[in-house]
Amino acid sequence: MKVLVINAGSSSLKYQLIDMQTEKAVAKGGCERIGIEGSFLKHKANGKEVIIEKAMPDHKVAVQLVLEALADKDHGAISSMNEIDAVGHRVVHSGEEFTGSVLITPEVLKKIEALSDLAPLHEPANVTGIKACMAIMPSAPQVAVFDTAFHSTMPDYAYMYAVPYEDYKCYKVRRYGFHGSSHLFVSQEAAKYLGRNDLKIVTCHLGNGSSISAVKNGKCMDTSMGFTPLAGVPMGTRSGDIDPAIIEYLGAKKNMSVSEVLTYLNKKSGMLGISGVSSDFRDLSAASEAGNDRARLALDMFAYATKKYVGAYAAAMGGIDCLVFTAGIGENDSFIRAKVTEGLEFLGVEIDKEENNKRTGDIHDITAKGGKVKVLVIPTNEELVIARDTARLSE
Ligand code: ADP
Repeated sequence: MKVLVINAGSSSLKYQLIDMQTEKAVAKGGCERIGIEGSFLKHKANGKEVIIEKAMPDHKVAVQLVLEALADKDHGAISSMNEIDAVGHRVVHSGEEFTGSVLITPEVLKKIEALSDLAPLHEPANVTGIKACMAIMPSAPQVAVFDTAFHSTMPDYAYMYAVPYEDYKCYKVRRYGFHGSSHLFVSQEAAKYLGRNDLKIVTCHLGNGSSISAVKNGKCMDTSMGFTPLAGVPMGTRSGDIDPAIIEYLGAKKNMSVSEVLTYLNKKSGMLGISGVSSDFRDLSAASEAGNDRARLALDMFAYATKKYVGAYAAAMGGIDCLVFTAGIGENDSFIRAKVTEGLEFLGVEIDKEENNKRTGDIHDITAKGGKVKVLVIPTNEELVIARDTARLSE
């Protein structure tokens, strides 16, 4: 069985074709600048990478071009689009409507569209991707896999905000959390690796966007992102948690509307805003090593905020058996892993410095000898979670 995984953004569309027998991607790529001049498709398969520059006025044209690339005699991975058995879509928000992945029917699609208020930038783009695939591949089952769904098991006292209860009831103001497929994947991989399901795991998805989750016995108990992905630790360009009163104060001082302040907090803040150098941790490390104190400060703030979540979630779960690092920073940045775990010996978290400095590209145990808490580096694979659910629901 082959599953096409689609992640549609407003002007982009990423894809992977996954062979479910091997659970490996046989082709992957992405369309950029959809609906904008200069659109192109970057496609990788058969050990070849090609860039196809073609006008993509909308997502339907983009999907058509992806299918042509996938079935191309030279750089394709299938002989015709009929070999695609099902399509799995990454959908950012499930609201409280869905608590797991779902086969997309016209009724389901309407419900997903109705969730756009909760994620006005992402949900309409996801819907556009779904509609384009439904139009071009009408006989392939389409499945929605939500970024929020893994967090639907949080207890009410973890997901509620202390605003008047009616606002939760009427407007669904609450913590949802994101990166759910990643937290699910790495916590399952950790349980498999350790051969146990009764585990208290803290998963740190540290990438461009970062979130930390508390996973007890396979279920999410709490997570650091909130109503939107702006909450939690400071990120590449997002502020993470701030006192909400700052929004009015900054708006008045800088003559910005609420929505301008929010854009500022989403795009100009975080590591970029603090350092003035970059949102990329590789640039920040280089700058910090070269003596840039604001880059040093940004890295210290990130590690400190992450460490605080590890401690908080160990308290929330009544202990911690395993700490997982994943995503771009979690998988690659040994300095951040060392900084986050430094001083957590009282919790039983200790890492082996040499192991921490190795990069294996696979599950990697960096626990110090005698360390009570297993510390694991686990490459995430959100696409595989989407493909597995798609295969299961379309059989
Ligand atoms: P996303 O999927 O959210 O776009 P990723 O999980 O790919 O993000 O993470 C991207 C980030 O990971 C980069 O911005 C960079 O800060 C960090 N990163 C990637 N590779 C390295 C590395 N070798 N060392 C340190 N940081 C890295």
